[in-house]
Amino acid sequence: MAGFDIGLDEEGLFADFDWEAPEHVQAGIREHRDDIAALARPGPDGFTGEAWWSLYFEFVAMVESVGEPPHVAERLAFDGVIGWWLGRNPVAQEPWRCCHCGGDHAILFAATGEWCHLQCLEAWQARRCADAVAALAEFSITAES
Ligand SMILES: [Zn+2]
Repeated sequence: MAGFDIGLDEEGLFADFDWEAPEHVQAGIREHRDDIAALARPGPDGFTGEAWWSLYFEFVAMVESVGEPPHVAERLAFDGVIGWWLGRNPVAQEPWRCCHCGGDHAILFAATGEWCHLQCLEAWQARRCADAVAALAEFSITAES
């Protein structure tokens, strides 16, 4: 049976076929080599692009399974993946120091585990969500996925 192995090594993406791959397959791999490598390489949070996409599709399937239409499932799945990204990418903080402005006398928000001034919280959360959106966009996961 013919098969292939695609993965990453220290030199980047490799693709080994135990059969003569059609030219269009080889050309597709060459053309998308960097995109494929980006999906397979774990980020600082330990998740690969492939793992983020898997999570996204799991969320879509869960929401669709309760009868929601695909566009609702995809929007909620994106929100779910944002939440997971935030959980997997915590910010190093000092107690009592605001994670947004760096000022003293911040309070700890138990829900997120972040030290922040109440007046800074909305801006901080918007910034963190923007960070998550940008990170997931690296894998082409967007609100329009
Ligand atoms: Zn602050």
